[in-house]
Amino acid sequence: MPSRRLVLFGPPGVGKGTQAVRLREELCVAHISTGDILRDNVKRSTDLGVQAKGFMDAGKLVPDDLVIALVEDRLKADDCKEGFILDGFPRTAEQYDKLDSMLEARGTPVEAVLYFSAPDETLVRRIAGRRMCRDCGATYHVDYSPCKTGDTCEKCGGEVYQRADDNEATVAKRLQEYQAMSAPLLSRYQETGLLAEIDGTLSQEEVFQAALVAIS
Ligand code: AMP
Repeated sequence: MPSRRLVLFGPPGVGKGTQAVRLREELCVAHISTGDILRDNVKRSTDLGVQAKGFMDAGKLVPDDLVIALVEDRLKADDCKEGFILDGFPRTAEQYDKLDSMLEARGTPVEAVLYFSAPDETLVRRIAGRRMCRDCGATYHVDYSPCKTGDTCEKCGGEVYQRADDNEATVAKRLQEYQAMSAPLLSRYQETGLLAEIDGTLSQEEVFQAALVAIS
């Protein structure tokens, strides 16, 4: 039986979101992307979205209390009963600790942590060319996987756009935030014995196969 409670860890642009979608289809568990949930709140101008937007546009992390509350709430949903894929959470020591205690209280600890790595130049190139569908979240890349139907999503007909924070200046800030706040969590995950490192520069398919091996 493969692991069904996963954390996908790694820098922005390494492919966590793409792999999370494939793993969700494979495992039939909930996909919890804090970035997607925050963007949806920004789009709908909810209180959370209004509070988060400035941080996101500047490439900074959204304050812990806001993100922790949203994950806590999301984990209560029915679709998390069979498992979950955390994509982009935890990203700070505070989030790590809170997640640990939340899951311990539920009796559903994380079973595997997949760490995707890639050099900064690769991440910047991937992020700067990344395009997304506003409606279904499908991702494209202007060079590697262009949308065949232009600005209209191939999958759902929604508008294909560039995320406000996917520009080179903001990417540099996001990578700095990752190094300062998130990378230190790696040694903690290493100590748990749950961590598997996967080379994020490989093709999407190769990364997926490596992920399947890591959770099997
Ligand atoms: P992502 O889609 O994962 O690249 O996240 C986009 C942006 O959302 C980040 O640059 C942060 O501003 C915010 N964000 C997403 N997840 C978190 C998190 N776990 N903690 C703080 N901010 C987050």
